[in-house]
Amino acid sequence: MRFGIMTLDDFDVGGKTVLCRVDINQPINREKGTLRDTTRIKGCVPTVRELSDKGARVVLLAHQGSDIEYHNFFSTRPHAAVLSDFLARPVKFIDDVCGPAAREAISRLSDGEILLLDNVRYLGEEQTLFELNLGLSHEEQSKTLLVQTLAPLADLYVCDAFAAAHRNQPSLCGFEQLLPSAMGRLFEREYCEVSKLMEAPARPCLFILGGAKISDTFMMMETVLKNGTADAILTGGLVANVMLAATQKPVGSGSLALIRKSGHEKFLEAAETLCKNYPDKIVLPLDLAGSRNGLRIDYALSEVPEDLEALDIGQKTAEMYAGRIRDVATVFLNGPMGVFEQEETSLGTRTVMEALGNSKAYTVVGGGDSITALKRFDQTDRISYICTGGGALIRFLTGEELPVVKALRTAAERGLD
Ligand code: AMP
Repeated sequence: MRFGIMTLDDFDVGGKTVLCRVDINQPINREKGTLRDTTRIKGCVPTVRELSDKGARVVLLAHQGSDIEYHNFFSTRPHAAVLSDFLARPVKFIDDVCGPAAREAISRLSDGEILLLDNVRYLGEEQTLFELNLGLSHEEQSKTLLVQTLAPLADLYVCDAFAAAHRNQPSLCGFEQLLPSAMGRLFEREYCEVSKLMEAPARPCLFILGGAKISDTFMMMETVLKNGTADAILTGGLVANVMLAATQKPVGSGSLALIRKSGHEKFLEAAETLCKNYPDKIVLPLDLAGSRNGLRIDYALSEVPEDLEALDIGQKTAEMYAGRIRDVATVFLNGPMGVFEQEETSLGTRTVMEALGNSKAYTVVGGGDSITALKRFDQTDRISYICTGGGALIRFLTGEELPVVKALRTAAERGLD
């Protein structure tokens, strides 16, 4: 047991049917049915291998994408082939989640065999819009078709999906109510690393926050500044654009339109308050960059054109951020500094990622797009710890107990009764 949660060390899994929830959600090319990245699949290999080596009948539950949020909804079939390559052993796949075909495939498993079920989000009950709190209650999770159908077929539930630990959904929080439950090895490692970052980072500790999915970022900033985890926060991406707009700095009408379109206007007030309360700790860009006919143009804040859409931090800002990274002992980065997928607006992210790679500090990077950016700029192997979960990590840093952590802890307490 660690952090009040059972681990794989607490169970003898030989000959047992183990339902293991993994997060192998990856960027995907839907036309070709191929995965653009496989980092998360690699991440769950230690747990799946250990379960299989110990003779468990391993049933993997996973989701791929969401069309409500990201337009990457797809079968988990390609993931089975990639996982099989990583493990160098067969991974069976069934194009069913909990229907008769899935149940039949589970009942046919032998000790050590691995089966991946299809996308759990094919079930409507798993498609909860958690950002809007349109979900099932904790108790209702265990009454869903998925949990009611699969739990009786299994002896143990293992959650290795730290990246999805902020989501209150049946495959993540339902089984713990009915089965003995443990966290997997990746979950254990991620939880340990993020706890270390939150509780006792080496000083000074710098946060670098960017990207476009910023709904939890502002709450997290408040927490880490208030509790002193972050000594300073450097801003990029839409986080910076919102902060600049909130403090009446010019960002251009294109940037303002994107803030409106992406529903980030509601964060302007929180951004203004943060800048007012922590003027020495929150660092905003000195310059911004846009793209015109495929060419990059940098503008000092005083020269920002009226119609700019800021797609990157400027070069001066990027160099200043690289300098700040050189002087600290811990750096946590979540979210790219700009639209790094386009060459002309990649400079900010590239400069910051290279500075992280060169740094002697303990460096932690979280979030799918940040991991993709690290790869693109060849810095993956130079980072101290890469966390597979962006959203979960940010929620964790807000100080909130993650729903899956709570469900696993409750299961552990029940087991001790
Ligand atoms: P996230 O998933 O939150 O890490 O956001 C990553 C995405 O944010 C990437 O696809 C970037 O292209 C995008 N992004 C970063 N900066 C900006 C910006 N200034 N304007 C629009 N999109 C951005």
